[in-house]
Amino acid sequence: MTNKILVTRSSMPDFDEYIDEIKGMWDNCWLTNMGPKHKEFQAMLKDYMDVENIELLTNGHMALELTMQAMNLQGEVITTPFTFASTTHAIVRNGLEPVFCDIDPDTYTMDVNKLEKLITDRTSAIVPVHVYGNICNIEEIDRLAKKYNLKVIYDAAHTFGETYKGVGIGNFGDASCFSFHATKVFNSIEGGAVSFKGERLGKILYDLKNFGIHGPEEVSSVGANAKMNEFCAAMGICNLRHLDEEIAKRKTVVDRYIDRLSDVAGITVWKPQKDVKPNYAYFPAVFEPGEFGASREEVFAKLADNGIGARKYFYPLTNTFSAFNGKYSVDKTPVALHISKRVLTLPLYSDLKLEEVDRICDIILSMKN
Ligand SMILES: *Cc1c(COP(=O)(O)O)cnc(C)c1O
Repeated sequence: MTNKILVTRSSMPDFDEYIDEIKGMWDNCWLTNMGPKHKEFQAMLKDYMDVENIELLTNGHMALELTMQAMNLQGEVITTPFTFASTTHAIVRNGLEPVFCDIDPDTYTMDVNKLEKLITDRTSAIVPVHVYGNICNIEEIDRLAKKYNLKVIYDAAHTFGETYKGVGIGNFGDASCFSFHATKVFNSIEGGAVSFKGERLGKILYDLKNFGIHGPEEVSSVGANAKMNEFCAAMGICNLRHLDEEIAKRKTVVDRYIDRLSDVAGITVWKPQKDVKPNYAYFPAVFEPGEFGASREEVFAKLADNGIGARKYFYPLTNTFSAFNGKYSVDKTPVALHISKRVLTLPLYSDLKLEEVDRICDIILSMKN
């Protein structure tokens, strides 16, 4: 019997390294509320991401939700439906109206050629997603945001550790929101952060993540509870020490997939972008059934039969969620719909063996015309 292969596996430090990191907590009994590990992790991250400021949060979703609240956005927010539930939910949970822009067929990020005509006098912000670690068209989004005086909040959950033209990816737009969830390229068990320039946003977020408490006797905003605890911060500190090594190992896995699958008719696989230092977070493959010989559903099922977990990521599109009761039309996002019906992300983690990658590719290739 061959072993099961899951789509991802969380990176973990050596047990002893983590124990060393948390030992001090049995002396100071400081478990949460911005303790010493929180401060240390925040400083390490700021340095690693090469950004001016960051604020830590309990997860990536609260990073998005509270950033929108902190900016006091109103009316409509333009985003894409080819993303995780979190992006759209953060908009709706702020009482804002999501307006869905289609995606670019090559990078799966917001199609900037379709963006401008969606801007109305009710638009207050753009929330683009750096999907799979692919960077959005930052220059064009920036240009339109300036022209129409809109805020830009990047959902950067997939891009931790990346750079664009040598600049840390958290330096673009008004803010970038990161996730350190267990399934991400870098994790603090659960965790998230917002990067931004200047001091103002950080002060608002600091209060919002702690019920809006501004001083011992002052509650000045209607906040949530989204503080990162000390155990999570300690995990992040440990994992950050090994991240470059982890990313290098992921690269060898991705290179093997590219080697085996990139020249196959009817499969379009992930490829590196110009000017981007990638983090190898995901390996999406898009199957055109006619050309390839099997549909995404068939490939998914065949892999599952062989104990291999691929993921229909992102399917379904967020604008088709039953939660929205048919309120949004997918007719306006045809490219997103097309890709969401054909894409699979293949297993990818640092310890995935090349023999396992070959076994996955052999199974896929056995299905071609
Ligand atoms: C993971 C993810 C989030 C949410 O992050 P959590 O830390 O899980 O709350 C938001 N957006 C995208 C695109 C994600 O992949």
